[in-house]
Amino acid sequence: METKYIFVTGGVVSSLGKGIISSSLARLLLARGYRVTIQKFDPYINIDPGTLNPYEHGECYVTVDGHEADLDLGHYERFTNTQTTRANNVTTGRIYQSVIDKERRGDYLGKTVQIIPHITDEIKRNVKLLGNTGQFDFVITEIGGTVGDIESTPYLEAVRQLRWELGNSSLCIHLTYVPYLKAAKELKTKPTQHSVKLLQQVGIQPDVLVLRTEHDIPMGMRRKVAQFCNVAPEAVIQSIDAPTIYQVPLMMHEQGLDDFVITKMGLECKQEPNLDAWNHFLEKLSSATKEVKIGLVGKYVELQDAYKSISESLSHAATYNDHKLKLVYIHSEKLTDKEVDEKLSEMDGVIIAPGFGQRGIEGKFVAIKWCREHDIPTFGICLGMQCIVIEFARNVLGLTDANSSEMDSKTTNNVIDLMEEQKGINNLGGTMRLGAYECQLHPESKAAKAYGKTIVSERHRHRFEFNSEFRSRFEEAGMKCVGENPKTHLVEVVELPEKRWFVGTQYHPEYQSTVLEPNPLFMDFIKAAIKYSEEKNK
Ligand code: GLN
Repeated sequence: METKYIFVTGGVVSSLGKGIISSSLARLLLARGYRVTIQKFDPYINIDPGTLNPYEHGECYVTVDGHEADLDLGHYERFTNTQTTRANNVTTGRIYQSVIDKERRGDYLGKTVQIIPHITDEIKRNVKLLGNTGQFDFVITEIGGTVGDIESTPYLEAVRQLRWELGNSSLCIHLTYVPYLKAAKELKTKPTQHSVKLLQQVGIQPDVLVLRTEHDIPMGMRRKVAQFCNVAPEAVIQSIDAPTIYQVPLMMHEQGLDDFVITKMGLECKQEPNLDAWNHFLEKLSSATKEVKIGLVGKYVELQDAYKSISESLSHAATYNDHKLKLVYIHSEKLTDKEVDEKLSEMDGVIIAPGFGQRGIEGKFVAIKWCREHDIPTFGICLGMQCIVIEFARNVLGLTDANSSEMDSKTTNNVIDLMEEQKGINNLGGTMRLGAYECQLHPESKAAKAYGKTIVSERHRHRFEFNSEFRSRFEEAGMKCVGENPKTHLVEVVELPEKRWFVGTQYHPEYQSTVLEPNPLFMDFIKAAIKYSEEKNK
């Protein structure tokens, strides 16, 4: 079938959850047998979010093909169980870079290069890139930012043109906010009306309005919105706060969002979506009563979006192990030997978070030492794995000045060192070891048993690695290098086999955990944590 394009815009305020609405619609269309992908345009000038501080937009997600992406791509993958690539996340920086490169090559044949048509054409080309692969029936394009923002304007102009060109093969969903005024005890739709007006002013008539709300919006009020905004009454849908984001596809389906979209685009609603596996997950999620308590030691604890993929992976794993996840964020900058006992002794398992730079690193060593000595299930990811190695070097091998050359470029005990291929790289953007690489696991390792196989592929984002010069000393003292890259022998996984569950991975398994396919390593870690908690409480 000819590819259909769905545009998702937002108005009134940001953070309404366009990513969740896009993902939910994608889940419903997939459940009806369509092939769907979601793409996001971010209106900032950065080429990608790889150089951004997590405080800006939360975690940096990594795709299989090594693109550093907006965290919404994580939602897309977790909801759709389909991998995304570089083409699924484009920024204004990328658009301009490509146009400027073409200008330098002389591709524009002496013409003046302008926002319209050159920037808008480049945006349109990027929208169609995914559709033109022939792999998808639907391409859902989320436009970052809010209608009315200066920086979103070229994107909306591109959407206007595409809608004109594509006719019935395109559709626009606009997400707005309906505030509740406590004093007046009233829901207010005026901001929605204004936001739709703004969209109409740039030549876009939305087909569907999704109203974010904290209170049920009465039918009469929805009909009023429909009338004011030239939208069919059945296409005014509410998105009310849900106990879990994974409930949103069902809420959208109950209100007929997928039916409306399919019919509006001239397709037939043949079958009901098959949501059996999805519902199975939701049932487990709501019926779990026992709790598994995991501490996450990291430096971005004020901002939970900084560890989004990790917290979601833990939640998937807890759910499939019939437990509720209680995730406690522990500030690594504030963790010292004095309070570590109080902070960690209640935990059933501890995650040592990924990260960059010196800040908060000493607290991670404190946590690791405590977990190792108390034999708590412990899982170090990327920098977390590197810290597990450094702590072991300092406190078991007796190399008191052991460090990563990221933190101390002069130490002779550089047990974590800059990768050879990284030496001489000056630019920070897009230059790490990124994306999926294979890892060969020792058959007797906890990791191999968790995956049920010895060759796995996981995603990466790092510059530093385990320094193999020290490998035999570690192994003799009990820290085993049980996973390595089959070609370069880069150490990917370390374990303390004597402990209950003590594993560090150079890769990021959290980028490959979805609702329908939880990551095996997270599953095994949570299993170990539950077992430990049962032992404790005996
Ligand atoms: N800073 C470390 C490195 O670059 C770890 C990176 C990470 O945790 N993603 O190797």
